[in-house]
Amino acid sequence: MDECPGCVPASRLPSIDRLMQRPVNAALVAEHGHTLVVGEARALLAALRERALSGELSDAGLQPEQLDQRLAERVARRLAPAMRAVLNLTGTVIHTNLGRALLADAAQQHLLAMMAGPNNLEYDLHSGGRGDRDELVEELLCTLTGAEAATVVNNNAAAVLLTIGALAAARPGRSEVIVSRGELVEIGGAFRMPDVMAAAGAMLVEVGTTNRTHPGDYERAIGERTALLMKVHTSNYAVQGFTAAVDESELARIAHGHGLPVATDLGSGALVDLRAFGLPQEPTPQQKLAAGCDIVTFSGDKLLGGPQAGLIVGTREAVGRIRKFPMKRALRMSKLPLAALEATLRLYLRPERLAQDLPTLRLLTRPVEAIRASAQNLHLALALALSPRYEVSVVELQGQIGSGSLPVDRLPSAGLAIAPTLAGKKGLGAALDRLATALRALPLPVIGRVADDRLLLDLRCLEDDAAFRGQLPALKELLA
Ligand SMILES: *Cc1c(COP(=O)(O)O)cnc(C)c1O
Repeated sequence: MDECPGCVPASRLPSIDRLMQRPVNAALVAEHGHTLVVGEARALLAALRERALSGELSDAGLQPEQLDQRLAERVARRLAPAMRAVLNLTGTVIHTNLGRALLADAAQQHLLAMMAGPNNLEYDLHSGGRGDRDELVEELLCTLTGAEAATVVNNNAAAVLLTIGALAAARPGRSEVIVSRGELVEIGGAFRMPDVMAAAGAMLVEVGTTNRTHPGDYERAIGERTALLMKVHTSNYAVQGFTAAVDESELARIAHGHGLPVATDLGSGALVDLRAFGLPQEPTPQQKLAAGCDIVTFSGDKLLGGPQAGLIVGTREAVGRIRKFPMKRALRMSKLPLAALEATLRLYLRPERLAQDLPTLRLLTRPVEAIRASAQNLHLALALALSPRYEVSVVELQGQIGSGSLPVDRLPSAGLAIAPTLAGKKGLGAALDRLATALRALPLPVIGRVADDRLLLDLRCLEDDAAFRGQLPALKELLA
């Protein structure tokens, strides 16, 4: 204590009762209740006591107004949600770390309406008996994809696991799944095809080589233990050059010749031909079913533009087996995403309106001229807010669709590039870090990307300039 003349001992801390008797804190209790506020007050005093014991507590830190303010801040922090809205200016439209597809208005409204009270999740309004939650979307999925039957689960990883489990692992002595070596993909996290096979209880049989697999490779691998032939869409990378793969129609011909089913995991799986919207082609479930696949699995929150979900479409036989498989119950969809999924799928009944109604498609098809205009609009205001330490320029950018969709295609875009002024080589990284940190600390955090010693803000996904502009004073303050 001797080395710290301004420091005070722990005995100077107020008691919890004294702290709570102060009118502002009593008001805090009246608003939020005793449990939260007194709990935070105790934690605050404990933290201060620690500091006093290590000789770091100053007299100023003990002023009643100081303590009141810190208590109010603690309570506010505790109540602030951890999941927060952000501005995705990364240039990747379907960003897995930023929540993937945005829900359409219709989906948000249906979701809210269904959550506010009871609904017919598993109740048949015609018969008055028990219903099946799958039926809420099955007919719609069949209409849109041409499938005989459909079922839905929590996400596409679950759809793949369930498909393999039900069509292969569930058959004693017949649990081999044949997959091309070129398609043993890792999607991210712990989702690697070989591991999924093992987890589902199936035996993986690899055929072909990384770059080339031929029909004969599958033919030769089929034996008494074979249960399923499987194709996996190589969604997050591309094998280019000297390549060969067996397409679904050829694979279906081989499989069906041996009385075996074929499943395809599409990953993203667009429900419409994206070329009609000026975007690169992505395989659709309807194409794969028409080619003869018994099961096609795809995600709800990638190109489909809905909530997290795994969609399984196919023949009545194969879907029936999947639906009856016990794991289905553990992987079933919750009513929240199911409501959002149904409303999203209904938007596809009006394909002419899709580019307006579905945010994912609206953002992907946003004309580069509109994005550039938005960048020009914001340029001066941002430059002023960041001057003199950073300079801002309007730039052409290359964005991407994201979530493993169309990995090699780029989306021409535009945005703002921010570079530190006068910073030496050494200070550059720190200056960019400081800026990125300040952007993330905004009330509506802004997430950009760093490339070539600049912080890039791709404005494709900024449909409302005001949401960005309104935060510039706060940004200026954070950097001051
Ligand atoms: C994204 C993806 C998955 C996983 O889908 P989730 O909906 O994220 O569970 C599986 N397979 C492929 C090919 C994918 O691209």
